[in-house]
Amino acid sequence: MKQTCLNCKFYKVEDPLSGYCRAEAQKAPEKAGQKPMVRHDSICAAWVDCGQNYYIRLGWIKAQEKKKTPDVRQ
Ligand code: SF4
Repeated sequence: MKQTCLNCKFYKVEDPLSGYCRAEAQKAPEKAGQKPMVRHDSICAAWVDCGQNYYIRLGWIKAQEKKKTPDVRQ
């Protein structure tokens, strides 16, 4: 699997395309509150596998996209 922010331990999903990176805040307590926005498909050297959370995030994103798409089956 390709390494991206979406499957990184430090990522926090915010919307279907982006989220917050918690890497700085987790590494140094004095940097608490520093959570820059990043896109799902970004990547950096601090990447750490988030394991099963990746599938939970994908499910959440799919649910959000379903909500936005009007049901045209009528
Ligand atoms: S910017 Fe780096 S540390 Fe932050 S979520 Fe993306 S890959 Fe992870």
